[in-house]
Amino acid sequence: MHEACIDSELCDGCQDCLECCVYDAIALVRMPPSKRLKAVVDLDRCCGCLACGPPICPQDGIELRRIRA
Ligand code: SF4
Ligand code: SF4
Repeated sequence: MHEACIDSELCDGCQDCLECCVYDAIALVRMPPSKRLKAVVDLDRCCGCLACGPPICPQDGIELRRIRA
């Protein structure tokens, strides 16, 4: 079982990951003081399907963490 985690330092808000998540678990939010929108994962919706894994994020900002076997 995995869950997605997005590194907001790496995310540039390109939105490439939004469409790949059929569970609607990824959203773009504004994180002050940055003016850019950043992707965040709603872990209540993420089912660990791995669809947002490489090569989806051009910034390599999405980590799929194993949370249990
Ligand atoms: S694909 Fe990567 S850089 Fe683009 S919005 Fe998603 S996490 Fe951010
Ligand atoms: S692992 Fe699957 S459900 Fe979770 S954010 Fe990525 S695409 Fe969406």
